[in-house]
Amino acid sequence: MWSGRMPDNKDLVSTLQKNGRITSQKVADAMDQIDRGIFVPPGEPSYMDHPVPIGYNATISAPHMHAICLELLKDHLQPGMHALDIGAGTGYLTAIFALMVGDTGRSVGVEHIPELTATAVANVQKSNAARLLNIGSLSLHTGDGRDGFPEHAPYDAIHVGAAAPSIPPALTDQLKPGGRLVIPVGEVFQELIVIDKDLKGELKKSEHLSVRYVPLTDRQSQLNKKL
Ligand code: SAH
Repeated sequence: MWSGRMPDNKDLVSTLQKNGRITSQKVADAMDQIDRGIFVPPGEPSYMDHPVPIGYNATISAPHMHAICLELLKDHLQPGMHALDIGAGTGYLTAIFALMVGDTGRSVGVEHIPELTATAVANVQKSNAARLLNIGSLSLHTGDGRDGFPEHAPYDAIHVGAAAPSIPPALTDQLKPGGRLVIPVGEVFQELIVIDKDLKGELKKSEHLSVRYVPLTDRQSQLNKKL
């Protein structure tokens, strides 16, 4: 029922809890602390459960996709752990990862459109993760995410926010034994794939659900895409 006030980030989190997308207190608390409204371009609705265009043929993903990925990764986002967010876009998930891994952890975002990286930095500066950016436990970089980010590898958690035609080997290489990679894979039909690396270094793959993401590609193909 319309209550006469505009929805806010708390409403978004409680909707995602009610519809079962957020199942843990840990993910609810993390999503509570990072206001999606800071990351959505001005004039667009921030607290509805759908993706929003952010320019350059990219979108900020729908909140339920962020919730699903956070639930899948939460045990790999404990204080002190290392997280990598490929296709960081607005920086929203990089910021949430940073709050979860804390001062002694590392959250690294990689985005290949330099303008989006710059906006992501500006967004994070306005959020509750600004301090972590300032002390360096959160960082955002422009680069091709298919190469991962070797400097801070190995990672306990790797999230890819764009669909790859196949799993880039650099990403499984940079996964720590015991770590988890969540990546949408496919072109027309995409599946959210979960890869766990066991302590012996062996990879175990499971398919999670059908999804629809923008492609993980090279910069020129993304910018030339006809919508
Ligand atoms: N998690 C982000 C998703 C943004 S959409 C968010 O919710 O804000 C996917 C992003 O992946 C886009 O910003 C796009 O520019 C980026 N991308 C696509 N291919 C890439 C590549 N090869 N390397 C790095 N980033 C890439």
